[in-house]
Parts: sequence; structure tokens; C-alpha cells
Amino acid sequence: MEVKKYVYLFSEGNASMRNLLGGKGANLAEMTNLGIPVPQGFTITTEACTKYYEDGEIISEDIINQIMEALAKTEEITGKKFGDKDNPLLVSVRSGARVSMPGMMDTILNLGLNDETVQGIAKLTGNERFAYDSYRRFIQMFSDVAIGIEKRKFEDILDEVKEEKGVEYDTDLDAEDLKKVVIKYKKLYVKEMGEEFPQDPKEQLMSSVQAVFKSWNNPRAIVYRRLNDIPSNWGTAVNVQSMVFGNMGENSGTGVAFTRDPATGEKKIFGEYLINAQGEDVVAGIRTPQPISRLEQELPQCYKQFMDIAARLEAHYKDMQDMEFTIEQGKLYFLQTRNGKRTAQAALKIAVDLVEEGVLTKEEALLKVEPKQLDSLLHPTFDAEELKKATPIAKGLPASPGAACGKVYFTAQEAKSRHEKGEKVILIRLETSPEDIEGMVAAEGILTIRGGMTSHAAVVARGMGTCCVAGCGEIKIDEENKTFIASGKTYKEGDYISLDGSTGNVYGTAIKTVAPEISGYFGKFMEWADEVRTLKVRANADTPKDAKQAVQFGAEGIGLCRTEHMFFNEDRIPAVREMIVSEDEDQRRRALEKLLPMQREDFIGIYEAMEDRPVTIRFLDPPLHEFLPTEEEDIKELSEDMGISYEHLKSTIQSLHEFNPMMGHRGCRLTVSYPEIAEMQTRAVIEAAIHVKKEKGYDIVPEIMIPLVGEAKELKYVKDIVVKIADEIIAKSGVDLKYLVGTMIEVPRAAVTADEIAKEADFFSFGTNDLTQMTFGFSRDDSGKFLNSYYEKNIYEFDPFQKLDQDGVGKLVKMAVDLGKKTRENIKLGICGEHGGDPSSVEFFHNVGLNYVSCSPFRVPIARLAAAQAAIKSKSQK
Ligand code: PEP
Ligand code: MG
Repeated sequence: MEVKKYVYLFSEGNASMRNLLGGKGANLAEMTNLGIPVPQGFTITTEACTKYYEDGEIISEDIINQIMEALAKTEEITGKKFGDKDNPLLVSVRSGARVSMPGMMDTILNLGLNDETVQGIAKLTGNERFAYDSYRRFIQMFSDVAIGIEKRKFEDILDEVKEEKGVEYDTDLDAEDLKKVVIKYKKLYVKEMGEEFPQDPKEQLMSSVQAVFKSWNNPRAIVYRRLNDIPSNWGTAVNVQSMVFGNMGENSGTGVAFTRDPATGEKKIFGEYLINAQGEDVVAGIRTPQPISRLEQELPQCYKQFMDIAARLEAHYKDMQDMEFTIEQGKLYFLQTRNGKRTAQAALKIAVDLVEEGVLTKEEALLKVEPKQLDSLLHPTFDAEELKKATPIAKGLPASPGAACGKVYFTAQEAKSRHEKGEKVILIRLETSPEDIEGMVAAEGILTIRGGMTSHAAVVARGMGTCCVAGCGEIKIDEENKTFIASGKTYKEGDYISLDGSTGNVYGTAIKTVAPEISGYFGKFMEWADEVRTLKVRANADTPKDAKQAVQFGAEGIGLCRTEHMFFNEDRIPAVREMIVSEDEDQRRRALEKLLPMQREDFIGIYEAMEDRPVTIRFLDPPLHEFLPTEEEDIKELSEDMGISYEHLKSTIQSLHEFNPMMGHRGCRLTVSYPEIAEMQTRAVIEAAIHVKKEKGYDIVPEIMIPLVGEAKELKYVKDIVVKIADEIIAKSGVDLKYLVGTMIEVPRAAVTADEIAKEADFFSFGTNDLTQMTFGFSRDDSGKFLNSYYEKNIYEFDPFQKLDQDGVGKLVKMAVDLGKKTRENIKLGICGEHGGDPSSVEFFHNVGLNYVSCSPFRVPIARLAAAQAAIKSKSQK
């Protein structure tokens, strides 16, 4: 039997093996093949990680053996030996999933150090301080990452030693001080673990590999995966790489760089480095790094070589690269390269530039931009007039562009819980760490006091498209008391501040923000997307204002106009309430008469805004009691307005109470009980259409949509009412007006009997919100309370209300499409649930052959790009 290979030397892999070796491993292999100087080592595959979980969190014998073999080969290649006291091999252990997950997984450096090898390193380098500094860093990192002893406890020890010596910086500690630190660190280890710090490098290695595997399932990684559609069964690879040292003196250093500016996309090397430092110093943002251009003066040879290799890597990968490098005593090494994370602006500029430079085709460029990223371009910037009047209270680094205004909070938990209560929040932290991810997601903007352009906050914010100002050292923060001081003024939790992520400015007041526009690179890129996509994109819009916004963002029609949203207006709600509490049909008709002109005006506004574009208007959907007052005082007021007794009104309201309103008297069921509601709505739609057609000459074909249908006869009943009224009005008007009557498919029974339903429906629009709710049997409003437990336990990996459950709900959609087409070959098919703006769901809808998706106006560009990508991908699969 052939033995499965779980471990690959860098020289055995290549870039196409990303699924198996992870992104980092595949690129290390590729760089090795290209002859770029890479410290050698090996990659333990993602399949080994999956097997680790399958085997009950145990690393099997065969994997251990293969690791030991690869280690022996690495010893041969480097001429160093693991645990050798004269010439020890030291390695780094890093995670590397298929796609990069910044900050989610953990890294251990300097592995292989122990009480003996540290002396070997000291002798070899002639630098005892360096050796002990490396050892203390290793003990700290290993104990934190592999064992789980809090990092803070080690930092406290380091601070103590510095204090004793009366110095401020780590660099002020000499070899003797660091030896003391090592002794104290090891004591702490014994105290915490009840055993000595492991001296056997192989034991250190296996614990670290296991820690990386384990970190795949830490809560931060699970949250990140859910936010980024990464399946849990991918697993992570582990990279074991021989160490090179950037902290070996003034001719050593370490840095990160991008081949283009990740904030703007400008074509120029953009990076930072620190002389005499190790990798984590740059990423953690603890010391402030130098711009890469300075390297030209400090180490010109290395600079030139670096620039040549960077250019080669970009040309090779046909994309902007994000590289990590280390210079060890004048010799340059590349530790990593990957396609760099970038802001949405930069992503678009780079994609368009690469096409214009002849590197990519338009279709390749379209696949380079993550549709969800466009979101950050579709959100407000500051109102220019208000901005002119505002004076910044501090300036930091413009780490992730955009404008944000909100109340300031000092912890991720508080930011998250305030956001959930509907507040717009800004998260301020000394520096962020992966634990802060949920607060960062909730925040409109992120402000950090420490850290450079590649600090955790900056990288994560850019990835999420959230505005971020980093490294704002002018602000003095007191995290404990939840205050900060800027320009001499103290700000406390809950105060309004505003951030400009494009300039780095921080303002101590609320500044109004304004809606964005699609122009420049964005406009050009979206034109390319429109050229290739076949799926149409409409918007869910209920008002002329939303309709206009949707058209500006490229919507080709309205796929869902929820008429009930208009009912909530202050001037309408009395008439709506009157209709609901009516005792008989006459009373109800009188109330509906009052609503008719208002609804007609709404529809006129929408038709005018949409011109010739199609508009689907859905009839009343929610349970009626949603419109009724709940407070005593409001009930009293209504009873007075309506001239009925308080008690009478109260008992009517009580009688409308439902145990399961989501599955109660709503949707078309309301029309079955009260046909006059559908009569009024039909009248409003048809009269509005005739009016606008006459006045403006637009070619309007009203699309009337009946919600919550589960039975063909039910639809027929409502449709007959619509047709009767519509035909009467049209005949009288003398205007030639065509119209369509269709239905939502949002009750599972409708999907299963779609062939019958299609006999009565000119079109289907999938209401995937309700279809998800009813297929899973859990409420849209309550599922938030328990879904988290499901994510934690890996039962569900994502929120099915945001991303379509293709295996279950998707099957119903597919079934309904097939059955619908069997009855009515050319039936128009769309979807208007939340999933219409979710890229992976859009791809599914393209593949099952829908004609359009409809989503909120702000997600229209996302859906346009997702539809283009779906078309390109399905073409390439044929
Ligand atoms: C749906 O159910 O998917 C839908 C679009 O309707 P609503 O969200 O208004 O119930
Ligand atoms: Mg619905």
C-alpha cells in the first residue's frame, strides 16, 4: 500500500498545491523553485490537520515519522542539527491555511532553543545578548501559543526587570539581564504547569505543530471563517522553516512590503522595516518602523536585490504581492509572499492597471476583486461643508480609508454590544489583537494608539473595508478608566468622535457623512462586470429615494417593493390602524379609501424614479398587529381619534394577538380574509402606472407580487381579484397597459408544488428569508439567540439567513425552478431575499438559471460583480 504523503520539503511543492500546502507553504515552495533565497524547511499538509481532527486530536505515528524524516533532510540542507549544542538548527512554526487568515492563527519563532543550544548560538554568533533575547522570546511565545500561559505574565516579568534596572526599552537590557529574564520565565512556567520548560526540541516541535492544528478551531478562527466563507474542513497546513535572524545587529533587520500601495493601489513599493529586530516586532506594531526607501541608504545591496525579487514575484503571480523578508548579517531572505490584502480602492486600481499594463485580461481582473470588499466604497464619506468647519484633535496613520462617525468605546465587547443595540460605534484601543475581532466587525471605525500601517488593526480593517486610523500616538489613552486625552481635552466612553481613514485625522465631534458615487476606476471596472454577466441585478426599494440610489448603483429594476413599509409613516398609520380594527367590510373600505391616494402617490414616485425599468410591487405581507399600538397611552389616543371606547379597542387588539405571527395571519392570507385590501392595492398600482405612462411616456409593465403563497388555489383566488380590478381600470382609462401577476416562493409547500403554482403565476420571486425560516423551522427573529452555539460546535458554519443554505433551501429553489419551467417554459425567475446580495449565493442563483437577483441598493454593485464572476467561472467550467 502506498503511504500517504503528509509532509513536503519546500523543494517538493509548488504554487498549484495551495489546497494541500496552504497559501504560505505553496508560495514558499514556489519561491524555492524560482531560486529566490528562502530559509529552507517543510510543510505539514492541510490533510494532516484534517486527519488530526478525524483521529480525535491526535497526531498519528505516520505523520510524526514523516515530520522527523523531513526534519532530518532540513538538517542536511542547512548543515545544522536540531538540539546540537555547537551548531543548532532553530525553526519557526507557522500556520498557513489555503487563504490567509491574518492574526487568526499562531506563530512560534526560535524553536529548538534550550539551556544548551542557547549557548551554542551565543558562541556561533559571538553575541550572547542576541542568544538570550531569542531564548526568552521563544519561551514566551511557546508558552503563550502552544501551552496557553498568558503573554501578559511574561510581559510583567520583563517590565519588572527593566524597572529594576531603571531603563525604558527592551534594547537597554544586556545579556546578563536577559539571562535573569530567562530564569524568571522558566520559573513562571514551572509555577503554571507544574513541570519544567521542555528542553527536548522534538517535544517542542510536536507541541507547536499540535498547537497550530488546534488553533484552527479557536473561537477567533471560527468567527473569521464565518465572516469570510471559509469551510471548516479545509484545515490549516503547518510550515516549519529554519530561522534566520533579523536581530543580529545593525546589518540585520526584518520587514514587510507590498509591491503596490495597499491603500491606494499606486504602483510603487510600499513597506516598512526595522533594523535589528525580529518579525513579530513589525507585525505587532510595538516599535515604529522605517519606510522601505530608507533601506537604500542603510543596506544598498540588499535594497537592490529586494527590489529585483519583488518585481519578479509580482510578474510571476500577476498580482500585487505582500512579502516578508529578513536580512541576517547583510544577507537577504524572503520568508513569505502572498497576494496582498488591499483596500477596495486599491483593489480596483490594481485590477484596472494590470489590464492596462497587459498583465491580465479583463476577465482575470474581474476575478481578482472580492465582491464583498466593494462594500467599503458604497458607504459614506464626510460632508465637505461640515468637514471644512471641523478641526482635527489628532492625526494618526491613514490605515484603511473611508469616513466613520460614532460613539467611542474602549473594549471590543462593549463596541459589539452597543452596536447590537443599534448604536454606531468607534472602537478605540491601544493596539488591537485577534481577540478584538468581533468588536472590530461591529465598529464603523477603528482607532489605535500604537502600530504602523501593517499592524494587526490596519491589516484586519483593510480586509474588512472598515475605516481605520492607526498609530495615533498623539492621543493618550487610559483603557482602564475608559477615557482618552487629545488636544488637551478628555473624551470618555460614549462621546461622539469621527475618523477619516484616508487622511488619518481624528475629530472630537460628530461629522455628517454623505453617500458615495461610482466613478473612475470603480466605474470602469463595473462596466467590465456588466459586459460579462448574464444575471440581472435589481434592488429592494420601497421609496423613490431608495429607488434613485439603487439606479445610481446600477440596479436594473426593483425586485421587491415592500408596500407595508409605507404604512408605517406617521401620516398613514392612523388610517392603517383604522383598517385593522374595523368591525365590518364597510368600515374597512372607508379606511382603505383614505390609504388609496397615499399608496398611489408612493407608486407614482417610484415609477418616475425607475423610468422604464421593471418594478415588482408586493402586496401587504406582515401580520396586522405589527401596526397596532402597544403602549396604554397610544391606545387611548387611537381610541379617541377613532371615536371608540378604550376597552373596545383594547379587546380588539388582544383578539389580534398571535402565538406565531411569522406563521400566522399574514401575506396572501390577509387578502383571503379581506379581499378589499388587495383591491385597494391593485387600484393604487394600476392607476399610478397609467398616470406615469401617460405623463412621462415610460413603458411601464406593473409586476404585482402576491406573498406567502403555499397553494395554487390560494394564488388563483387573489389573482382573480387583482385581474378583475386591473382590467376594469385599464379598460376605462383607454391606455394600453400590460401587467404581470406573480408570486413569491417562500413557503416550502409552494416550492414543492411549483408546477401547480406556475399555472397561475407570470413570475416567481424566491423569498429566501422566509423560505430559510420555514425550511429550517427556526424564526428569523429568534435564531440569533441560539445560532452562536451552533457555530461554536461546528454544526452550522454560517448564518443561513445571510448565505443561502444550498444543500437544503437551495434544493427547494432548484426544485421550484425546474417544476416552474415544466409548466411555463419562459417563467420569469428572481430572488429578493437577503441572499440576493451575498456573493456565494449569487453564484448559486446564476447556476440554477434565475433571471435576476434583487438586493438592498447598497449591495447592488456587489451583486453585479458576483454575477460577473459567476458567469466567468461557469464559462471556464464548461
Ligand atoms: C423573503 O421572505 O425573503 C422576503 C423577501 O420577504 P420579507 O423579508 O419581507 O418577508
Ligand atoms: Mg417573506
